[in-house]
Amino acid sequence: MTHLFNDPTKFTDELIEGFAAAHRNQIYPVDGGVIRRHKAKPGQVVLVIGGGSGHYPAFGGFVGAGLAHGAAMGNVFASPSAQQICNVAQAVDAGGGILFSYGNYAGDVLNFNQAQERLCAMGIDVRTVVVTDDTASASAAEKHKRRGIAGTLPVFKAAAVAADAGKSLDEVFRIATEANERVRTLGVAFSGCTLPGAGKPLFEVADGKMEVGMGIHGESGLYRMDAPTADGLAEILVNKLLSEIPAVVGNSDGARIGVILNSLGTVKHEELFVVYRKVDQLLSAHRLAIVEPVVGELITSFDMAGISLTLFWLNDQLEHTWIAAADTPAFHRGHIAQSDGDNADVTKFSGKRRLTIGSANSQVAATVAFAALKAASEVIDEKREELGCLDAIAGDGDHGLGMQRGLTAAVVAAKEALDAKAGVGTLLTVAGDAWSDRAGGTSGALWGIILRNLGGALGDEAIPTASVIAAGIAAALRDVMDLGKAQPGDKTFVDVLHPFSTALAQGASCNRSISASWTAAAAIADEAAQATKDLLPRIGRARPHAERSIGTPDPGAVSMALIIRSVDKIIGAYCS
Ligand code: ADP
Ligand code: MG
Repeated sequence: MTHLFNDPTKFTDELIEGFAAAHRNQIYPVDGGVIRRHKAKPGQVVLVIGGGSGHYPAFGGFVGAGLAHGAAMGNVFASPSAQQICNVAQAVDAGGGILFSYGNYAGDVLNFNQAQERLCAMGIDVRTVVVTDDTASASAAEKHKRRGIAGTLPVFKAAAVAADAGKSLDEVFRIATEANERVRTLGVAFSGCTLPGAGKPLFEVADGKMEVGMGIHGESGLYRMDAPTADGLAEILVNKLLSEIPAVVGNSDGARIGVILNSLGTVKHEELFVVYRKVDQLLSAHRLAIVEPVVGELITSFDMAGISLTLFWLNDQLEHTWIAAADTPAFHRGHIAQSDGDNADVTKFSGKRRLTIGSANSQVAATVAFAALKAASEVIDEKREELGCLDAIAGDGDHGLGMQRGLTAAVVAAKEALDAKAGVGTLLTVAGDAWSDRAGGTSGALWGIILRNLGGALGDEAIPTASVIAAGIAAALRDVMDLGKAQPGDKTFVDVLHPFSTALAQGASCNRSISASWTAAAAIADEAAQATKDLLPRIGRARPHAERSIGTPDPGAVSMALIIRSVDKIIGAYCS
């Protein structure tokens, strides 16, 4: 259980506020996360990390001297939005380029990639190292598909130490990449976790059992077994990790390794030490030299009971970065001289766009678009619980909440645009930005893309036509598939967007009105959403529990069909 919260929808904002207040001497809050209190040296590379909240100390707890320069902090178990990441990155940018590093999760990849594109367009050089240390999540041959867990820490340290030493962005990237190639983790869980305000656990492990390889959002592991003794568990973890020594290490006899024994939530230090006693014996018996081990909480999952063991295979350079001093809210090592650098600027980078005044015709269209967004927001408010339950079957249960947050923000931004006499293109674009910024996660990022594409196609001058709308939706589909990597049949909202787009294009090619064309396409969208029942998810958060979702439609597909349907009513009322 999570016992303490106020309004669960404000949990993340409130935790960041308290976290920043508790660590004023080390960090500053910015819009989207936290940054080091002291500015980086002019011209140096900076390290920006991030991910969902609910995993403290990952990721905000790793910001400070000797570690990250900034962390973007998303909602509970949801990626930060591209805008949040950009805000943090711009707040710490020192002119030498930025390294992004984070654990490999679809939503994080999507949002960090978009942030990277935006920053590159501003002339800021950005490179990315995605951490893939979780040996349970894919085979060694497909290491790039593995998730990132406690192995993020040694990779972040490698990047940060190299960046603070004044190395070039290419060099920082190379060192962090090498660190990721040399780090391996395996985790186990004895229980699931309950998100703040949730009535039941997000996932569970049967009493007395242990799931080997379970992920930090409940992604299923390799196998279940009876819970072993502390020594028995140490043996399982050490043996498995020693069965996959990275090829670059060569002869492991006498090899030097960094070790992390991490609690995922409720396992206490005392229990960790009992396990570590055996880990130390076993690794020493394998003639491995342990360097500066870390035993404690590094990456967690609320009240999940579980631990993970990480081995970091050192070379000279990585040993230097691993043992280097650090002083952050959650990670301390050695003694770091108090920085006498200037305090960071905490000017907010809100990334607000200018509102372009539209033509009279486009302002009329903007009124319709605003009404459509409001109608969509109302239907999602009404169906929030239902969508959450659908998502909880195989995903993380946050779809209703995320959609509600996103659409509520979209409506507020659209109203501002409407009051400023913006055209429909600008209105949809700012609504899309606000949506992805507030919703976070995968679906928030993708809905932002849809609205921005539609806004781009409609513009602020012309009277919208059925064919321009169809072209906007087709462009949205292309970008969603391109960035989100889902194909039709993967059980995502692409299974609705794809036939919907085809139907709109068909309507337009037969010269149907906007309203007739949308109504016909909405019927197809409804059917397509229901048809996702029979599909097996192959991408996104739902993938690990794929089989559980057979017989239930995809939540993102259902919410999209609901939105299309509510927009249909508005178009019918205004455009007939
Ligand atoms: P998260 O997966 O980050 O928890 P949500 O729960 O809000 O985000 O949304 C889940 C929905 O997002 C899924 O039901 C699916 O329709 C959609 N989705 C997830 N990943 C993708 C993707 N890569 N491409 C298209 N849609 C996706
Ligand atoms: Mg979800």
